[in-house]
Amino acid sequence: MKTVKAMKIMCKSLVIAVTMAAVMAGVVLSTRSAVAQVEKPGVEKLYILNCGEGRAGDQSRWSPGVNVGVPIDMVDSCYLIKHAQGWFLWDTGVADAIAAMPEGQRPENPAMTQWRRPKTLAAQIDALGVKPADIKYVAISHTHPDHIGNVELFPQAMLLVQRAEYEWPSPLGVGRFKPEHPVTKLEGDRDVFGDGSVVIISTPGHTPGHQSLLVTLPKTGAVVLSGDAVHFKDNWDHRRAPSFNFDKDKTIASIQRIADIMAQHNAQLWINHDKAQRDGQKLAPEFYE
Ligand SMILES: [Zn+2]
Repeated sequence: MKTVKAMKIMCKSLVIAVTMAAVMAGVVLSTRSAVAQVEKPGVEKLYILNCGEGRAGDQSRWSPGVNVGVPIDMVDSCYLIKHAQGWFLWDTGVADAIAAMPEGQRPENPAMTQWRRPKTLAAQIDALGVKPADIKYVAISHTHPDHIGNVELFPQAMLLVQRAEYEWPSPLGVGRFKPEHPVTKLEGDRDVFGDGSVVIISTPGHTPGHQSLLVTLPKTGAVVLSGDAVHFKDNWDHRRAPSFNFDKDKTIASIQRIADIMAQHNAQLWINHDKAQRDGQKLAPEFYE
């Protein structure tokens, strides 16, 4: 009898112990998930903004020996990303001042792109209820004018640019950015928010410090924003480097690097200037999540 009683007591205490352990585990688990929610919310949404539309007189500028003398329509995209830690803008397009020019900005060389600006960047951001001062980071793929036209709309935003690009002497002999603009000069890749959801990847070649962006969205999944690592899908498919690129070998190596990253992350490639692709995408105020 004594043994049975003792066993009953033991059983009871075991039940109590197990219950207490479960409760404690539950507490631990819920605390953990709360921490995870605070620390790893990732990207909430991404808007594609119209940052220019244009026509170039000779596609072969970008595809040497192919489609010589054939005009090509291009778009210029900016991407506004909402992360729980702040707004992040990728590229700024052609200057907003071009919106006031009915025919757009005529290039010196007709083979190059005549850019128009159907909408200003400022107006598109404003329409989303975002103030320029809300933008925490502005990262630019490179320093060509169709990507940095509006950096100074965001004088307080931290500019994220490769050191090699920032220090690349401007062909015009003038600074591309105001010297007082806050800047982080990167030397390679950068996980911007520390959670892997917005990662700048170094892809030199088009220019000395060209960079692309790996974004991971909660529903859409991983996307690589090309910058000008390639200009349109045909060049991606055929691994072509435009004749005016800074370094052809680095261009091809960077295309391969992007392909490897895409395979690793099961990512899509969104090509900044590819009109056919962008015509099938949602533009702000619609968004990707
Ligand atoms: Zn470029």
